Amino acid sequence: MSEKSATGTGAILHLDAVIDGSLSPAAAGRRLDVLSPSDGALIATLPRCDAADVGRAVSAARRGFEAGPWARMTAAERGRLLSRLSNLVSEKIDELADLECRDTGKPLRQGRADIAALARYFEFYGGAADKVMGDTIPTADGFLALTLREPHGVVGGIIPWNYPAQIMGRVVGGALAMGNTVVLKPAEDACLSVVRVAALALEAGFPAGVLNVVTGYGDEAGAALANHPGLDFLTFTGSPAVGTLIQAAAARNHIGCTLELGGKSPQILFQDADLDAAVPVVVNAIIQNCGQTCSAGSRVLVQQTIWDEVVEILRARIRALVAGPHHLDLDLGPLISAAQVARVRSFVDRAAADGIPLIAEGAIAPDCPAGGCYTPARLYGPVPPAHPLAREEVFGPVLSMIPFRDEDEAVDLANATDFGLVAGVWTRDGQRGLRMARRIRAGQVFVNAYGAGGGIELPFGGFKKSGHGREKGFEALYEFSATKTVVLRHG
Ligand code: NAD
Repeated sequence: MSEKSATGTGAILHLDAVIDGSLSPAAAGRRLDVLSPSDGALIATLPRCDAADVGRAVSAARRGFEAGPWARMTAAERGRLLSRLSNLVSEKIDELADLECRDTGKPLRQGRADIAALARYFEFYGGAADKVMGDTIPTADGFLALTLREPHGVVGGIIPWNYPAQIMGRVVGGALAMGNTVVLKPAEDACLSVVRVAALALEAGFPAGVLNVVTGYGDEAGAALANHPGLDFLTFTGSPAVGTLIQAAAARNHIGCTLELGGKSPQILFQDADLDAAVPVVVNAIIQNCGQTCSAGSRVLVQQTIWDEVVEILRARIRALVAGPHHLDLDLGPLISAAQVARVRSFVDRAAADGIPLIAEGAIAPDCPAGGCYTPARLYGPVPPAHPLAREEVFGPVLSMIPFRDEDEAVDLANATDFGLVAGVWTRDGQRGLRMARRIRAGQVFVNAYGAGGGIELPFGGFKKSGHGREKGFEALYEFSATKTVVLRHG
């Protein structure tokens, strides 16, 4: 094919799912279109998998788990395969980053960082595979008791469009390191890198059935996977609404599941904060991936005594931000889709109707393609703590400023949403930083920093409606395995 997208670099791609060690179309032959968020052009087609394809993938994963070379492999050998995949991803960083950026619209630097993170996930879990140990447990006289960490079996993974490559890395890396096999359903809006990397896994030497990727719609392929009785564990990253369906499906099948859901994460600026250090991080935490980040720092809580100063600094920063096509590598790319533009618009309209002051608005680059999904960065404040802008996940580059008087009020406001994913505390008072870290209900708290999900080594996950279970770091390896207790009587 020679058709090109106006802002893209390549021809239209026609990719396949990966099932049982082979590239595979949907059995029914149906396909779905993938549009560029930068200009609306068709950039790829993918198999529209349905329940039959999901069934094939789960059966392949079962065979891969129970028979075949994977079942007999040592942990060290599994680790070596993951390391080899990490190297392949690093070698192909240019191609994969280009694919990720055309697919998601994210600026080139961000796409490249995402692919580097994907390689790092496989490197980390490759190294960790043979370092998960059990315990010996003192028990009754004459008995030796020990624990083994065993894989669950077939893991179903359902992931979103905002960080396809990174989230693939954290789900697949941890699950495979522990000896599970995986059926992954990436999001229909963006998953080209995921499909490509699953094909690279075959090149790296992963046996048939170990890593399967079924592309398709959520209510079709996704629902078929979540409800499949052949799974032993489910992991889901996405919206709270769909997370509820996933949890119910897991309950019906009596299997465990982890949910990584949304957030409304606060950045808290005390009057003794180093604003030179804090402000660039606060801004980055809301514009990264155009605000479509579960751990976006979408609320900034500001102590009243420095309110005016912070308003002036942030006003200038937000006004200077420019959104445009991914290949221009500006501050912000487009949103993922027209539906996401409409979602952000609804919050903006509500704010206007309710008289919430718009402190600053960024720019959209001139001559952006008409079919692109652009929205400028926006700063609102003061936002009443009960307003949707202060409580709900916008999933766009919209930052809400909220004033507070003292430490107690800062804690109350930080905890005043249904979510609890990440928080950032900015203060030169180390003891206050520690107190805040203890009192905030979030899965990650940064003091004088903000990791937007943090490093690969750091356990990550939610309190409250941000979900349950932990991914990343070593903790993911415990999620992706079960403890077996073995007792020997020696008399
Ligand atoms: P979504 O819930 O709409 O979709 C996520 C995945 O679920 C997609 O693959 C989709 O196809 C699938 N799906 C949709 N309906 C389904 C169904 N009925 N049954 C089974 N699968 C179904 O979420 P999204 O819009 O793609 O992603 C945005 C959300 O993800 C935000 O809320 C964001 O905060 C969250 N997120 C969380 C994390 C985290 O680690 N906590 C990371 C990234 C995104």
